[in-house]
Amino acid sequence: MPHTTLIPEPWDDEGFTILYATADEGAAMTMIEIRANVTGSGWNTIAFIEAIWPDARLHARLIASAPRMLEALRAIAADPDACTCHTRGWYGELHDTQCPVRIALDTLSQAART
Ligand SMILES: [Zn+2]
Repeated sequence: MPHTTLIPEPWDDEGFTILYATADEGAAMTMIEIRANVTGSGWNTIAFIEAIWPDARLHARLIASAPRMLEALRAIAADPDACTCHTRGWYGELHDTQCPVRIALDTLSQAART
């Protein structure tokens, strides 16, 4: 199973919205900061989302939930009871493309791609 290591929880998107300064004052952007405790000594920036875009806060929360989603996908991929191949008459050696186990494995593989 592909293995991706992430910075441990918690990740957070509740940080202050930051005005990201640019050389041209008129081009300054308001950003939502996503943080985690990377160094072990407090919050560090993981990513910024430009706050002006539709659903920017939602996207920031989605990024901040990455460690929990990763663990959920690993749990599905490792759970033989999550396999639904037999409901579609598939008894091949590997899972078919509609099986939750296959979907979880493929998503984990894409996330681990370098
Ligand atoms: Zn399956």
